[in-house]
Amino acid sequence: MSSIRIGGIEKFSIVDFPNRMAAVVFMQGCPWRCPFCHNSHLQDVNAETNIVWRKFLDFLEQRKGMLDAVVFSGGEPLVQENLVQAMEDVKAMGYQIGLHTGGYHPKRFEKILPAVDWVGFDVKAPFDEERYKAVTGGIADVARVLESLQMLIASRKAFECRTTCDPRFLNTDDIYTIADSLKNMGVKEYYLQKYRKVPSDTDTTDGQCLALVEDEKLLLYLRESFDIFDVRR
Ligand code: SF4
Repeated sequence: MSSIRIGGIEKFSIVDFPNRMAAVVFMQGCPWRCPFCHNSHLQDVNAETNIVWRKFLDFLEQRKGMLDAVVFSGGEPLVQENLVQAMEDVKAMGYQIGLHTGGYHPKRFEKILPAVDWVGFDVKAPFDEERYKAVTGGIADVARVLESLQMLIASRKAFECRTTCDPRFLNTDDIYTIADSLKNMGVKEYYLQKYRKVPSDTDTTDGQCLALVEDEKLLLYLRESFDIFDVRR
């Protein structure tokens, strides 16, 4: 059995894996520091947590037949060295596997991909080193993100890409740029996520939070660019 650090659990979700009833397990640890992060308590991989992987597996044993899938979310699940084994433990119980990731660790991503049934891939900014760094607290390596995304596309696994529209870091042109890059890479499914203000953000107005996800010209362009596109509020 694997050893893995968990920061939280959601026992039932219908929004974290499309068309599946899923449990969500929030992995402890994330190397990035996105200014719009609502899970900052999950960022420190060494933070105290009293959630035990064995107990989560016991919970899944009891829910067999009631849940379809388990989503590994975060934090950033690719931080966990034992992620492959953890996914295999869960898959062996008959569950489908979902993954939420920013693709920060392509080598680990390559190892876990065969076990994964669906991926929600976060695209933080246009694929430019400085822009990506600005949205991840100066940390992300855009080449590694691109390597993971290209691997995902080539794998033919089911996946979506999504971008959180924080107006402090992204403008309309950025979303056009991201969309064109994704379309050219062969991405078929894309979502814009409304920015929900973090407590430290006292300046951004409600109107600014909505501006990108209510830009009708942009939304029309995105609907025409992808097989599936929508806004999440
Ligand atoms: S990648 Fe996700 S968990 Fe990590 S800092 Fe950014 S928003 Fe938070």
